[in-house]
Amino acid sequence: MCGIIGYTGTKPVCPILIDGLRALEYRGYDSAGVALSGKTLTTVKRAGRISVLEEALAAGEAGADLQAPCGIAHTRWATHGAPTDANAHPHATDRLALVHNGIIENDRALRRELEEKGYVFNSETDTEAAAKLIDSIYAETPDPIAAIRAAAKRLEGAYALAVVFADRPKQIYAIRRDNPLIVAATAEGAFLASDIPALLPHTKDYYRPDENEIVVLDAEGEAPSVRFFGAEGELTHPVCTVNWNVEQAEKGGYDHFMRKELGEGPEGVRRTLTPLVRDGLPAFGLPLMDGLGKMRSMRIVACGTAMHAGLMGRAFIERLARMPVTVEIASEFRYRNPILSPDEPILLLSQSGETADTLAALRLARANGIPTAAIVNVIGSSVAREADAVLATHAGPEIAVASTKAYATQASMMALIAVAIAHQRGLITDEKAKEMTAALADRLPAALEETIALEEQMIEQAKRLSSAEHVFYIGRGTDYDGSVEGALKLKEISYIHSEAYAAGELKHGTISLITDGVPVVALSTDANTASKMASNMREVRARGGYVLLICTEATRAEVEPCSDACIVLPESDPMLAPICGVLTEHMIAYHTARVMGCDVDKPRNLAKSVTVE
Ligand code: GLU
Repeated sequence: MCGIIGYTGTKPVCPILIDGLRALEYRGYDSAGVALSGKTLTTVKRAGRISVLEEALAAGEAGADLQAPCGIAHTRWATHGAPTDANAHPHATDRLALVHNGIIENDRALRRELEEKGYVFNSETDTEAAAKLIDSIYAETPDPIAAIRAAAKRLEGAYALAVVFADRPKQIYAIRRDNPLIVAATAEGAFLASDIPALLPHTKDYYRPDENEIVVLDAEGEAPSVRFFGAEGELTHPVCTVNWNVEQAEKGGYDHFMRKELGEGPEGVRRTLTPLVRDGLPAFGLPLMDGLGKMRSMRIVACGTAMHAGLMGRAFIERLARMPVTVEIASEFRYRNPILSPDEPILLLSQSGETADTLAALRLARANGIPTAAIVNVIGSSVAREADAVLATHAGPEIAVASTKAYATQASMMALIAVAIAHQRGLITDEKAKEMTAALADRLPAALEETIALEEQMIEQAKRLSSAEHVFYIGRGTDYDGSVEGALKLKEISYIHSEAYAAGELKHGTISLITDGVPVVALSTDANTASKMASNMREVRARGGYVLLICTEATRAEVEPCSDACIVLPESDPMLAPICGVLTEHMIAYHTARVMGCDVDKPRNLAKSVTVE
């Protein structure tokens, strides 16, 4: 998610910054910029690829001092405001330039406060509020450490910030909270970066600053240095040494991007839901979303894994808010001459926001005057630009073709929408709505982390599945919705034939395929249907099938005796548990494909963003 690189030293900074940004490209971005600190402090920034920024620099834009020996650079992955030149980082004032990774949650309040002081904002970003806040404090007290510390006390949210001050041309200041930042010093300079690949060409030794301390990179003295200042004064950190190569480094030490991204799901859910909670209740700040409760029904349109998040959403909304919901495959929806009605809004889900079928469905809806809302992971995408209301998931860029963390953020967003509609309709009290919102925003990320901790059990089961020719997935209700996604993930990346069935439907046909040793993954998180699941699992075992059960403490007593192997999820809540269940299925699919030696991140015939119909 976005890249930061900074350098101060003896060499011209420009090529170091550009190479650093390139090394961080894998994190995904939509615009890029640099601040060069030499005789002057100049900022050059551009929407688009790093090469566009390079061209602007080469053209001598803004009188940039290309020989400057100090500077900071950023690749932005937009969360607040479209990917435009103005929204790109750095954000500068006369006194400083700043780059930011993350989200400042109280940016609106800060913006109002700073506007009252006379500041004029030039971008839509949350980041600009942080830049101007530090500027306003520095104007009074020109002490960078004190100014950043005072500003940080006022910033809510997650961030890594790097700042250069016009009157301190050889220094870079930084701070982090809930976002990564590492630093290093060599004889040639001091470096700061979001991640190891940007440092590897220069050094293998680096430091990991703790949250909230101020990091100072300085090339003023005899040798370039990195220093750390906590609330109590100067601190030291043990040096860390990289023992990976560049490619491994990009994957955070994992074998595949997919595994790295599975681990990023909990944080993605946290980042997605936290900004949508105000006073403990869901608050989307969008008239369409805040009026959903008044609508007769809703239609969800999407493709693939996003459609499966929609299925889970339907179950949550119907159960909690008693609103009828239909879920449609975008490519089918378009050509069926659908019967549309203005009191049935259409909600579209797309990770990339560029999925051609989903985009076409959105355009069809809009041409018919139907209100549309979109859930996307890429803010400046076409779907985001064209929908009436946009809800951003903050999963961060997904590099692996098989979507995992985006699913987790989409499904949790759907759950929050269900709570919101139920509350708007007066079907749940304020108290209940607050309780459910807290369960989603606070408990769910932790529960997903605890689910990942069960990885050893998943690996064991993956070994068992890796020799299968067919794998079936069964569940009821939300567990069926989850099973559909589990089966898709397994076939996508392992090429094992896998199908999901509503557990009660198996006996109406598919049970003829259950023979000795055929694995059946049973998801049973719903206590209301556990006894029925138990019967269906018995039917499978009676025919020699191998039942791998994923259940909760609430269903365990009923279903475990009917299984061959059992993974117990850390959470029983009816909205949280199925999302943890799908994560388990994703992890099992990943490990199955890995054990089989498949090209996990780039499965055959599949593309990440499906921009063809
Ligand atoms: N929230 C900031 C923005 O939208 C920073 C995004 C990032 O991490 O790149 O500009």
